[in-house]
Amino acid sequence: MNNRFTQTARRMRARVNGSWEATVPFWPKAAIRRRADRRLRHLARIAAQHVPFYRDRLARGEMHITELRGTVDLAGWPIVPPDALRDEPERLVSEQADLAHCVRFLSSGSTGGRKSVYVDHKSLIHNAVYGTLGKWVIFKLTGALFRLRSVAIIVGDGTLDELGQMYADAFGTPRSPVQGGQLEVFSPFEEKLEVINTIKPHVVAGVAGAVADFFLEAHDRGADVHRPKLIKGTAEGISPRLRQRLENDCGILVRLSYASVESLKIGFQCEVGDGYHIHEDVCAVRIVDDDGQELPEGETGRVIVTNLVNHATVLINYDQGDRGRLSTAPCPCGRRFKRLWLEETRETPMLRTPTRQVLHYGEVLRQVIDGPGFEAMQIIVESPDRWRVLIHTEDNTHHTWHDEIAERIERMTGDEIHVELNMNTPFEYSAGGKQLPVIIRCSDQPPYLRDSEC
Ligand SMILES: [Zn+2]
Repeated sequence: MNNRFTQTARRMRARVNGSWEATVPFWPKAAIRRRADRRLRHLARIAAQHVPFYRDRLARGEMHITELRGTVDLAGWPIVPPDALRDEPERLVSEQADLAHCVRFLSSGSTGGRKSVYVDHKSLIHNAVYGTLGKWVIFKLTGALFRLRSVAIIVGDGTLDELGQMYADAFGTPRSPVQGGQLEVFSPFEEKLEVINTIKPHVVAGVAGAVADFFLEAHDRGADVHRPKLIKGTAEGISPRLRQRLENDCGILVRLSYASVESLKIGFQCEVGDGYHIHEDVCAVRIVDDDGQELPEGETGRVIVTNLVNHATVLINYDQGDRGRLSTAPCPCGRRFKRLWLEETRETPMLRTPTRQVLHYGEVLRQVIDGPGFEAMQIIVESPDRWRVLIHTEDNTHHTWHDEIAERIERMTGDEIHVELNMNTPFEYSAGGKQLPVIIRCSDQPPYLRDSEC
C-alpha cells in the first residue's frame, strides 16, 4: 500500500516536473539564459577541479575559470576537438562521476574512430524530459494526445532493450520508448505495409531515412497505404530533397531532431519546422570559423556545443563536426529558444540491393563492430552491385576475421552485392569535406535514382 502510494507520488512529481519543463522554451530569454549560466558555472567548477583535461590547461594558464561566468564567456575558452574524445576520452571524465551508474555511449566510428561518452543519471533524465517536449509538437501537428498511435522503424533484431541501446550506440541518438508497432529497417516492404495499414499510426518514427524510403516506395508503386500525419526522426538519414518529396508528394509532415552521442539532444523542430530550436538551458551552441573565432549571427561555420547538464564526460566547447548557422529571430511558434540551420548534416543514405532490399549502415555495422580492434567503418557504393567497405582496426593479426566480414556482408544482401574489403586504408571525404559513413557513387542509377529525383 505504502509502496503504491510512493509510486503514485513519484509518478505525479515526474508529471508535474515534465509539465513545468515543457514551459521552458516559452520563458523570457533572460530567464532561460540565467538557468543556462547557472548550470555552466557549476559545470566549470567541476571541470576545473575534477576533470584532468581542463584542470591541466587551467594549471598551464591556457584558460581561466573566473572568466567563465555565463554562456557568453564560452568564446574565451578553448575548443575541445573531436580527436580529444577519441584519443584521451578518460581525461574528459570527471573523477567524481559514479561510472557504475552512468550510461556509456559509443559513437558509430564513422567519423574517424569510435568515441566513448559517459552520461550521468541526471543528464539522462534531462534528456528524457526533453523527449516529452516533442509531445506538444506532435499534438499540434496530429491532434492526437492520449490515444496517439505510432509505429517505429528501427535497426536490429534482438530484444527491445538491445535495439534501443544499439540504436543509441550506433547513431548517437538517445533511445526513446517505443509505443505501438515496431518494424525493422531490414523487414520487407510488404510486412511494413501490413503493420502500418493495421495500426494506422498518427506518427511513424525511427530511422528517418528508412521511413522516408518506405512511403516513397509506396507512393511510386501506387500501393494502398495508410498515410501518417507525421514522420519523426533524427537529422541523420534524410536529405532535404527526400523531406520535400514526402511533404509535397505524399502529404506527410516531417519533423526532425538534432542529437549526438556527445551532447544527446541538441535541438528539435517545432510545428513550424524551420530550423532546429536549441535546448538552450541544457546545451549551449556557438558557431565559429575555422580558426575558432566566434562568427556573427547568421553566418555559417562550425557547430560548437557545450552540454550543460552532463557531469560525467564533461564537454565544454566541443566541436561537433557539423556546420550550421544560428538565428535569434522570433519563431512564429512563440518559443524563445534560438534556432540552428544545419548545412551539412550527418546524412547517411540508405543502402539498397538491385532487387530493392533496403539496408541501413547500422545493420552492416552490427556485423563488424565486435571484431578484434574494430575502430571505424565506411561504405562506398561504387555501383549498384559493388560496395567497397573500408574498415579501420587496431588489430592486423586476425586475418580470418577479415576474410569473414566480406562474406557476412554479402550474405546480408542476399548475395546480390559484391563486397570488396579495404583494411586500414584512409577514409574518403564528401565534396563538403566531411567524412560520411556512406558514400553513394551511383545515385543516377536504379535503385538509388529516387534519392536524387525531386
Ligand atoms: Zn518554432
